[in-house]
Amino acid sequence: MGLTPEHLAAEAEFQQFVDQHVVPFADEFHRTQRTPPEVVRTLSERGYLGLSIPKQFGGGGRDAITLGLLAGALGRGCSSLRSLLTVHTMVAHAIWRWGTQAQKEAWLPKLASGTRLGALALSEPNAGSDAKSVATRISEDGESFVLDGHKTWTTYGEIATLFLLIGRTQEGPTALLVERETAGLRTELITDLIGVRASMTASVRLDGCRVPKENLLGRRALGVSHVASAALDLGRYTVAWGCVGILDACLQASVAYTNQRKQFDVLLKEHQLVRCMVSDMLTDFRAAKLLCLEAGRLRDAKDPGALEAASIAKYFASTAAMRAASNAVQIYGANGCSGDYPLQRYLGDAKVMEIIEGSTQIQQVTLAEYAYQEYAGARVRGGTARWR
Ligand SMILES: Cc1cc2nc3c(=O)[nH]c(=O)nc-3n(C[C@H](O)[C@H](O)[C@H](O)COP(=O)(O)OP(=O)(O)OC[C@H]3O[C@@H](n4cnc5c(N)ncnc54)[C@H](O)[C@@H]3O)c2cc1C
Repeated sequence: MGLTPEHLAAEAEFQQFVDQHVVPFADEFHRTQRTPPEVVRTLSERGYLGLSIPKQFGGGGRDAITLGLLAGALGRGCSSLRSLLTVHTMVAHAIWRWGTQAQKEAWLPKLASGTRLGALALSEPNAGSDAKSVATRISEDGESFVLDGHKTWTTYGEIATLFLLIGRTQEGPTALLVERETAGLRTELITDLIGVRASMTASVRLDGCRVPKENLLGRRALGVSHVASAALDLGRYTVAWGCVGILDACLQASVAYTNQRKQFDVLLKEHQLVRCMVSDMLTDFRAAKLLCLEAGRLRDAKDPGALEAASIAKYFASTAAMRAASNAVQIYGANGCSGDYPLQRYLGDAKVMEIIEGSTQIQQVTLAEYAYQEYAGARVRGGTARWR
């Protein structure tokens, strides 16, 4: 797939880490609906949470492809941990992209070392896909902003210590950095999710929270269009890679099971209808990984096409992961429905991937726009070559 020796070495390291430290425990995380603190500590000690933060701010300074390979490996083992990487990296990226020099110096080293854990508090009970409709009120009092409102679905919100929060000033949606210990902020754990059940997702209540004005990230009114958008673009990219990991897990589990279980006196793999599901998984896995690699290369090259490529990768990989997880459960039959195997976990996780970071329908709406712009002069017959 055209990976450099450095990328291949990083991928081997990440996959080995996941085999040793994640795969054996992921079902337990899922059952108990929590990520043990020592796992978060291990991820930060290995430099994984700060992997893509520039070296000058204490991070690993690694490129987008390497970040994707880590997200893919974590996604194979545990989608909740991949979510942790995603939200933490999104917050760091937003600060790096839109923060002042002082904000970068204040926050990025802490995020790189894992001293602070980042989370994105954008969604509200009445603001989901239409993120610009956030209603959390940001008023002003002297040198402080005062926050009142209710955020929800904040991944790892229960343990995060730095929130990238989007509220509304008079001018429009505005991004602030809010520390966990701010008086008037409290979180409520959301349990019994269909997927990413260990992701310690929470609601965030804000009652007269005072935040220093220096915590404004970017300019007022640009909180969604610029700050959250930059974060979500990166989030979409890592979620797409996480789906490659789910596809990988489903494919491997399906091959292993059909190699050992017999029905009608032959191994399941001898039934052509079963083989068909496995062949679709293999094709989807390879295609999704190639789309993610393309998105990563464009991102590393700072190509404007990276946005569209991430959207395509996320749309394809998440719908493919859902297909694969559904078929993997089918292949396992009743065992696939039980807690004795991880298949039902993959299915719930894959469903969540179709909803977060822009749902499947939002990607379709966006991608259709790209198509009509790019092919504005298209002809009914023949057309012109558009290979890039
Ligand atoms: C496990 C989990 C973790 C999450 N983590 C975070 C987080 O860390 N931070 C955060 O801020 N949010 C988070 N979210 C929220 C997530 O971003 C939203 O769920 C997502 O944006 C969709 O919003 P919604 O659920 O309100 O659905 P809605 O926006 O109400 O959409 C409902 C349905 O309508 C469809 N729809 C909506 N608009 C259109 C349209 N224009 N055209 C066609 N169809 C449309 C959607 O695709 C969907 O199928 C998380 C959600 C989950 C489930």
